[in-house]
Amino acid sequence: MYPKIKIDLNKIKANCKIVVDQCEEKGISVTAIMKSFCARPEIAEALVESGVKYLGDARLENLKRVSHINIEKILIRIPSKSAAKDVIKYSDISLNSELEVIKLLNQYAAEENKIHKIVLMVELGDLREGILEEDILDVVKEVQKLKNIKLFGIGVNLTCYGGVIPTPKNLGKLIEINEKIKMETGIELEMISGGNSSSYYLVQNGKLPIGINNLRMGETIVFGTESAYGERIKGTHNDVFTVEAEIIESKVKNSIPEGEIGFDAFGNKPVFEDLGKIKRAILSIGRQDTEFSGMIPLDENIQCLGCSSDHFILNVTGTDYKIGDIVKFRLNYSALLKLMTSEYVNKEYIN
Ligand SMILES: *Cc1c(COP(=O)(O)O)cnc(C)c1O
Repeated sequence: MYPKIKIDLNKIKANCKIVVDQCEEKGISVTAIMKSFCARPEIAEALVESGVKYLGDARLENLKRVSHINIEKILIRIPSKSAAKDVIKYSDISLNSELEVIKLLNQYAAEENKIHKIVLMVELGDLREGILEEDILDVVKEVQKLKNIKLFGIGVNLTCYGGVIPTPKNLGKLIEINEKIKMETGIELEMISGGNSSSYYLVQNGKLPIGINNLRMGETIVFGTESAYGERIKGTHNDVFTVEAEIIESKVKNSIPEGEIGFDAFGNKPVFEDLGKIKRAILSIGRQDTEFSGMIPLDENIQCLGCSSDHFILNVTGTDYKIGDIVKFRLNYSALLKLMTSEYVNKEYIN
C-alpha cells in the first residue's frame, strides 16, 4: 500500500558511524536524537549498534517506545509539571531550566527510589530554553539540596529559534560556566552538551572548545548534513529515506483554475502560472502526511504544483506517467517529521 516511506538501515548506520567516529576522536559522545523518526525501534537499534552513547527525544511517548533498549535515555525537551512523574519513569536524564519542575522531579524520583540525572540548559543567545547566566549558580546550589537529583551536566541549544550559529565564543561561555560551577561548588559535571547538528562543523574544523564532551544530533545522522551551513558530511548518504506515492488521476487539464479565485483549503490565495494545457497527475498523499515544500521528486521531469490535505498535484507534461504508477521523492527535515508521524504512511525498512 502506498504512500510509503522506505528507510535504508545500512545507510543510516553508515552515516551514524561516520559522525560517531569523528566525534569520538575528539572525546565527544553522541546523543542520537530520534524525533525525526518518532523513535522507531528499528532505527534506534541501528544507531545504538553504530556506537551512540545515549538516545534522546523531546517526547516521552517516543522514549517509551525504546524502553527495551539497554542504553541511557535523555528527555531533551524541558519537562512539563504534569509529565514529571513519567519523566522519572521513561528517562534517565532530562534537560531542565525550571527549578520548580526540578523539585517536582526530585519528589517523584524519591517515591520511585531513583536518582534522576539532570542537565541544566543555559541561555546563550538563541532565546529558546535556558537559565540566564547570572542565575546559574543559584540554581545549582538549590539543586545540590535535592537528594534524588544528580546534577549531571550543563548544556546549550542554538540555531533552533533565533538561528544563532554556535561559535568558539558562545560555546566558550559554556566552558566558563562549567569552571565557575566547579570553583564555587566543587561539582565536577560529567556532561557538557554543546548543542545539536549545527555544532558539528566545529568538530570538523577542530574549533569546538575543549571541554565540550557531548552533542545531541539528529540531522547529521539522518541526512548526513551539518546544520549551521547545510554542508554535506563527507562519505554520508543523503538518501536514507525515500517516499513513494501512487498516481490516482492523470489527465490533461488547464494550468490555471477557472472562475473567481478565493482562498484555498488553508486560507491562502493561490497564484498560478499560465502554461496552457498540461498533463497533471494526482498522488494519494497530502498535507496530513507531509510538508509540500520538502518533497523533491527524483525524476527531474516532474514539477510539484500544490497540495491539499489528501491530494498532491504534479505537472507531468512530457512524461508517460499513468494511474497506478509510483512517484519517488527525496525529503527535507520537515517532510520527514510529518511522514514518520503520519499513521497513513507505511514504513518499510531495507536491511
Ligand atoms: C531537536 C533537538 C536536537 C537535535 O537537533 P538536530 O538539528 O536534529 O541535530 C538537539 N537538542 C535539542 C534540545 C533538540 O530539541
